Amino acid sequence: MIAVLKPDATREQIDNLTTWFEKRGLNVQLSVGQLSTVIGLIGDTSQIDVDLLEGLDIIESVKRITEPYKSANRKFHPDDTVVDIGGIKIGGGNFQLIAGPCSVESKDQIIGIAQSVKQSGATLLRGGAFKPRTSPYDFQGLKAEGIEFLLEAKELTGMPIVTEIMNTNHLPMFEHVDVIQVGARNMQNFEMLRELGKTDKPVLLKRGLANTLTELLMSAEYIMAGGNKNVILCERGVRTFETQTRNTLDLSAVPILRELTHLPIVIDPSHATGIARVVKPMAMAAAAAGADGIMIEVHNDPVNALCDGAQSLTPEQFEDVAGMVRKIREVVTA
Ligand code: PEP
Ligand code: MN
Repeated sequence: MIAVLKPDATREQIDNLTTWFEKRGLNVQLSVGQLSTVIGLIGDTSQIDVDLLEGLDIIESVKRITEPYKSANRKFHPDDTVVDIGGIKIGGGNFQLIAGPCSVESKDQIIGIAQSVKQSGATLLRGGAFKPRTSPYDFQGLKAEGIEFLLEAKELTGMPIVTEIMNTNHLPMFEHVDVIQVGARNMQNFEMLRELGKTDKPVLLKRGLANTLTELLMSAEYIMAGGNKNVILCERGVRTFETQTRNTLDLSAVPILRELTHLPIVIDPSHATGIARVVKPMAMAAAAAGADGIMIEVHNDPVNALCDGAQSLTPEQFEDVAGMVRKIREVVTA
């Protein structure tokens, strides 16, 4: 349920009303926006008399929310959420390019890639240390050492880092990681989501291979229900009957999620297509669709990459894509 307050509601009136709701066992989320102040109520609201609420001086309107996600719902929080990643903001008109290799392979590799993608305009560095691989015989990532190399690249370039977690027992290793990625395969690892909800670290939550947008938002809700509101959503392609591309990029996720939620939305054209030459047009399309960020895999030597070489751009190709994305952003935001 949401209660939209009148513009002249005083702090004291809002506090009194909040206490009244809390006494009834409801979780109260106050969203003070530019246009209106909204009180979102989570819990058993069936006991609340809507007519009585609507009769109060400070209430403009009351509405029951039918969607199962509450904290992630735009109705609860009409203004866009802006996630602050060590001073780099994403959402609410702030756009960021995330780039880096699928997996961290060596110190020199990650530092070299970090320096070149930074020069091309990337603001966040990605790189997998723990890799979710379909085959147990494939490279599984450098693990703790991979995170150390990422931290060295961060130290040298100043770029905040994004890396995937596969097990919440590893959380202490992520202490200095700026954005924790939850990969597609773990989107519905609810225990993991709950643990991440107890932290205040930004979480990049990737859509599962066969999950609906509602399910993605429910997973965001798990994190937010624990108190962590710093969730960034990522569409990375879903599995369809089409086999020409690795997955099918659901670009309509951008405008649809924009309506449903206030959280920032990132597109990953690399995993969505699996084909390096298709990344550029899809990155441009993502920018045109109004994504808040684009995450692209970049490798210094794609042919010899230990993971996802076929979809990885060279630093030069990335520079070209970054330039085109900037041009499209200028048109979209004009
Ligand atoms: C990745 O970003 O490296 C990754 C494994 O992505 P996804 O979880 O979307 O497959
Ligand atoms: Mn990858």
